Amino acid sequence: MIVRVLGSAAGGGVPQWNCACPNCAAARRGEQPRRSQSSLAVSADGDRWVLLNVSPDIAGQIEEYPPLQPRGIRGTPIAGMLLTDANVDHLGGLATLRQGGEHHFTLRSSGVVRDIATAQAAFAPFASAPHRWLAADEGLLPGSDDDPVGDELSVRAIPVPGLTPGYAGRIAVRGAVTAYAIRSAGGRTLLFAPVFSAVDITLAAEIRAADIAFIDGSFFSEGEMIETGAGDKRATSLGHAPLGGAGGTLAAIGTDHARCFVTHVNNTNPILDPGSAAAAILAQYNVEVAADGLTLEV
Ligand SMILES: [Zn+2]
Ligand SMILES: [Zn+2]
Repeated sequence: MIVRVLGSAAGGGVPQWNCACPNCAAARRGEQPRRSQSSLAVSADGDRWVLLNVSPDIAGQIEEYPPLQPRGIRGTPIAGMLLTDANVDHLGGLATLRQGGEHHFTLRSSGVVRDIATAQAAFAPFASAPHRWLAADEGLLPGSDDDPVGDELSVRAIPVPGLTPGYAGRIAVRGAVTAYAIRSAGGRTLLFAPVFSAVDITLAAEIRAADIAFIDGSFFSEGEMIETGAGDKRATSLGHAPLGGAGGTLAAIGTDHARCFVTHVNNTNPILDPGSAAAAILAQYNVEVAADGLTLEV
């Protein structure tokens, strides 16, 4: 299974257009890598691809990676998408992919996410022909050649603690956020969990069981947005568990896991500065920061 990190940042990216926080300023000076908004592309064979979330940066991300580019005068090797939630930075790229012509995408998300997203005019067309938007609420999804992941990969949907997006009221409801475990024919497992408001027992076990995991690295601390002057919201009020602290994600997952990356990293997060104390703590937990363009064979 091939895994490509299309983007590794939370909403806004790094640098964010209206932000001059230390990380955004460092990225503008070329002292930190630039990061687009988070998404993965996954393929069993390098031929057919599924996107795990579709960020508003999708057009540029396709241009950065030839395997996702058209192979004929019109067309795409992207068969469909798995969506974790209905935040605009996780599905806003659908508005770009609307020029698919006769190509049909198969999308999967929870029923809650489908209902929220398709109430928006920009996303509603993806729930009707030629596209399909299927519910994926829990458990093993029926793999078939007609499914976005094809029949060589199998997918489990894992409900995780989380909130609906701001435009839908930030409500804690089952199905608001889903993680996906994707298993290759060779039995290797990728976990994609870029959003969660807490690490429950199920999620902790999934992170430990995965051969490679991408987890929510939005914020290092609960009050980070306030302390950096970037906003007035706390991490958990935005639906993201902070990494650090006694109740944070790192303490919950421990060090007994295989390769683990944080993704969906907000530009206020001090882990983006490799010299920071927060980056050192992340390393103590054997967790890496995902980078745009990273391509892995799992
Ligand atoms: Zn986001
Ligand atoms: Zn910033």
